[in-house]
Amino acid sequence: MGAYCVKNEFPRLYSLSTEKEVSLRVVSHRNEASPRWIFKFRRRLLGWENDELTRLSTFLEQNLVGLSDREDRLGWLASPSAEFSVSSLYSLALPSAPVLVTKLIWNKFSPPKAQFLVWLAWKGRLKTASFLQRIGVLEPEASAMCVFCHEGLESVFHLLIWCPFAWRIWCDLMQWWGLSWVIPQTVEGILNWWRGFKWRHNLNVIWRIIPVAVLWSLWKFRNEKVFCESQMHLEELCELIKTRIALWAKLYTLDCCYSVQQIICNIQEIRLGNG
Ligand SMILES: [Zn+2]
Repeated sequence: MGAYCVKNEFPRLYSLSTEKEVSLRVVSHRNEASPRWIFKFRRRLLGWENDELTRLSTFLEQNLVGLSDREDRLGWLASPSAEFSVSSLYSLALPSAPVLVTKLIWNKFSPPKAQFLVWLAWKGRLKTASFLQRIGVLEPEASAMCVFCHEGLESVFHLLIWCPFAWRIWCDLMQWWGLSWVIPQTVEGILNWWRGFKWRHNLNVIWRIIPVAVLWSLWKFRNEKVFCESQMHLEELCELIKTRIALWAKLYTLDCCYSVQQIICNIQEIRLGNG
């Protein structure tokens, strides 16, 4: 479904399904007389799994308008026509990829200083402790360990991605949005993964703000810990990042139809079309 993978969004239902290969078109045709979708599972669903099933049905009804009129088939996302071509593969994989990454970085929905920080992170040019030690600014005997976990050397990738603290921040934001993922291992990997998703207009703006806000907030918090000995907890930082995302969305888009409160507390409902 476009850039959306139902299997990833509903992993428990997928694991219980006895018809993993069946197309949604077939499932929808099976019950023309009934307004409900009918899926086959290998056992009776538990309470929360039934809630997931309701969520899946709602999602399908809202997003598959006119499904019965369309042929169900695989589509190639790299091409607007959904047809595979060598040129679309080439443009996806090679020279244009950096251009697409920079489009995500230099967006008009976040403060320029935050965009610049992400650009520096993408280029690996943040002045981390290990970098400063390498060029002789930090004494060799000074600590270059990560200020979050105190276990890894403070490199760009460690601080922003590999560190357990940073990883938990990313996971919390994913959970907030209602997605689960395997975190890419580089800033470019994260930005490329991010641009693979497309949402409705306002939601897309919020989605594009998230990686900029997370990277900016992690770096800002790192500086506050180093220079001001900030004691902020992970949960507080997660809330701060969501607030920052909501405020940027309101500030940089004139037609954002959601309130700050709605974005922070109900983003999943908004995403599923119930908000
Ligand atoms: Zn760390």
